[in-house]
Amino acid sequence: MNNYKNKTRFAHADLFMLRLVLFHWVIVSTITAYLFHAYLLGFIGGALLFSITAFAYHNFKGTQIYRYIVGLVLITFSIIMIQQSLGRIEMHFHIFGVLSFLVIYKDFKVISLASTFIIVHHLIFNYLQEFNIHLFNTPIIIFNYGCGLDITLLHAAFVIFEWFVLHIIVKGMYKTDTELLRTKEALESVNTNLESLVNVRTLELNIAKEEADRANNMKSEFLANMSHEIRTPMNSIIGFTDLLSNEIINPIQKNYLKAVADSSKTLLTIINDILDLSKVEAGKLKIEHNPIDIRTLMDGIYNVFIYKASSKKIALHIEVAHLVPNTFYSDEVRIRQILFNLLSNALKFTDEGSINIKITSSKQDHKHANLIMEVRDTGLGIDEDQQALIFESFTQHSNQSNKKYGGTGLGLAITKKLVELMDGTINLQSKRHKGSTFIVTLKNIQISDERTLQHNHTNSLVIFEPATILVADDIQLNRVLIKEYLKDTPLTIVEAKDGQEAVDIVKSQHIDLILMDIKMPRKNGYEATKEIKQYKQIPVIAITASVISQKENLINQIFDEFLHKPLKSEILVYTMCKHIKCDIQPLSPISNYHSPHTDVQLSLDDNPTLKELLSKAQEGGDIALIQKFANELGTYATQNDLTDLKEISIKISSAVASFDIEECTLLLNKFNF
Ligand code: ADP
Repeated sequence: MNNYKNKTRFAHADLFMLRLVLFHWVIVSTITAYLFHAYLLGFIGGALLFSITAFAYHNFKGTQIYRYIVGLVLITFSIIMIQQSLGRIEMHFHIFGVLSFLVIYKDFKVISLASTFIIVHHLIFNYLQEFNIHLFNTPIIIFNYGCGLDITLLHAAFVIFEWFVLHIIVKGMYKTDTELLRTKEALESVNTNLESLVNVRTLELNIAKEEADRANNMKSEFLANMSHEIRTPMNSIIGFTDLLSNEIINPIQKNYLKAVADSSKTLLTIINDILDLSKVEAGKLKIEHNPIDIRTLMDGIYNVFIYKASSKKIALHIEVAHLVPNTFYSDEVRIRQILFNLLSNALKFTDEGSINIKITSSKQDHKHANLIMEVRDTGLGIDEDQQALIFESFTQHSNQSNKKYGGTGLGLAITKKLVELMDGTINLQSKRHKGSTFIVTLKNIQISDERTLQHNHTNSLVIFEPATILVADDIQLNRVLIKEYLKDTPLTIVEAKDGQEAVDIVKSQHIDLILMDIKMPRKNGYEATKEIKQYKQIPVIAITASVISQKENLINQIFDEFLHKPLKSEILVYTMCKHIKCDIQPLSPISNYHSPHTDVQLSLDDNPTLKELLSKAQEGGDIALIQKFANELGTYATQNDLTDLKEISIKISSAVASFDIEECTLLLNKFNF
């Protein structure tokens, strides 16, 4: 290791010295030949010295041996020059030069050897010159101005003096070098320590990240389970509150019930928001790709928000540019959710002025386009330093009055996640008190060939043929709700309180279709369905409040359909229609929703006040007016025991609750003028 270090440490010096020796050979032989006409010793001796150095370089470079050889070779050049110049004093200077050159090695031993060598040479040659000896035709002379021990010793004293000074210099250099080396080693070890510390920290961070991911997944699982627990009772609360609101006449009790209904809906919205967020975070939310008609979608959105906008005296404009394709493939539910969130906020945070929604598109190729949805308001605006923060979960503008504006700070977090999931971006341009513009760009969406879409199922009538339906749910209220939804049909409903009872019933009687809850005691819906499917091919529709289920894939394989709670009656009816005998007919303006028996025109001629309210409700898609009409119709129907009217008032209320303006219009059109 040490050897290796020296080799690399002296690599440059060794090569430099080799070149210096070569240079000496050329220069010394030239100078002495030119000045003193004695080229033979310089040329031959120089060649010999260079060969020795080159040999040593190849075999001993980086070692002490090479350094000693270099020292001796260079001093020998001094000797040659002194010899060829017949002891010229200038050539003696070379000795001092050589000793200084050797400082390059910071090795005192090399300088000592070279100094000793030259002193010994001087003493011997001083002695020899008395005998008139010749070397290559030149007599041995070391000083051209005479000889003698005193001169030699004086010269030796100069060499020793230089040797002494160089000794001090080299010692100092060696000390600095050692310190540098030590510092370097210390730095290297700090570096190594740092590296290992970084490795340890990275490992710790990875472990912490894994733990955080695990905790996050557990949170999502927990939320999913909680959702089931909360949504199940919410299903009953909302369903029965709606039904009850039409039974109750007492205005105080009606107000109480309205408070219950409003709070339940708010609670369900919050639960749905939290669930949506955890679903996206857990990567369980899948984006659908079905043909959607953006203009119809925007009409629906306009109808929902125009009432609130007018009541706040805010203008609402929706503009879909001509070039936007009629239909394209995307997820209608998610686009609606994104626009609902942005528009609800715009309405909430705007007190005067207007809200403008602009839909434009930029074509990528003849099959794809970018869809740009811009929601601009003239409201409160958002400070620049808050603009990134508000897209984070549970974050609202700082100093914002929660009492005044409410909210959970989840809407934009969900919106952003949904947009990203749909391969889009959301941008915000805003200034405090100068309004806000949210721009959503959905990239590269596929344009559909269909010019306009078929009307959805709410525009048609489902007429069931008699059949027996098994409803398996451990919660009695859920069974009652489904029975209520299907009460005007010729269907026979059989109930089971758990999976085992469902299996027993299927064994003992004919069942055409099963509506199966998943989480049930004794035998869950999944196990019961698996058992039933082994011996009878009965269609099974799973109805669950769970959002995230680890078994979701398995469930999809075993069930014929999958519906989420809270159940909407029309979705239930149309899903059932796919599996039992039924007829779907286009709905005439005065036809009943799903019962052929009540397919009659309704009249309010006996009640002019209600009739007037109806005509106002029919005018402009005003949700509050429609709700008011439904409430008063319910009261009137109960007081006069008018079943048809009572039923339709319930349906209008439920359509209002789900913002289904289309359905409201259909129901209102059932009345005769
Ligand atoms: P929430 O509306 O439930 O508070 P969001 O995530 O939808 O939650 O919005 C977060 C915050 O962003 C809001 O509380 C509000 O401070 C701000 N914000 C969102 N939209 C607007 C807007 N159009 N104008 C002003 N502020 C807005």
